[in-house]
Amino acid sequence: MTLRRIALIAVVALIAAVLGVYIGRAMLPQPMHTGSELHALLHDRLDLDAAQQAKLDAIEKTFAATHQKREAQLRADNARLAEAIAAEHVYGPRVAAAVDASHQSMGAVQKVTLEHIFAVRAILRPDQAAKFDAAVNRSLTAETK
Ligand SMILES: [Zn+2]
Repeated sequence: MTLRRIALIAVVALIAAVLGVYIGRAMLPQPMHTGSELHALLHDRLDLDAAQQAKLDAIEKTFAATHQKREAQLRADNARLAEAIAAEHVYGPRVAAAVDASHQSMGAVQKVTLEHIFAVRAILRPDQAAKFDAAVNRSLTAETK
């Protein structure tokens, strides 16, 4: 294989990966789509001391486990919704039930995310909490991209 060919394959694979992510995001209902952005912001911009960092690590561990379970539930419910749509092709009882289930698990994901946000806030100093609150507010009121 020539280098040129390898490069071409790499580019095609990259485009496919990016498209896959994009399509996945566009198709699936995004519970609190800003959640992970907010998360990154909170962790990067707050100048935590060592004690806070240790507390945060513990909080993160709990959150990661719960969040993963809730996300898995949501994915399973979305898959059932897709099946129901494919089976019924109308707004029938299966689709309706699957929508309800999907919304419920979306709510569950939001709840664990919010619980996490409050748990993090509880370990912050007042100056950090102010930045944190502003970031949460920006994140929740930001326009959907
Ligand atoms: Zn976190």
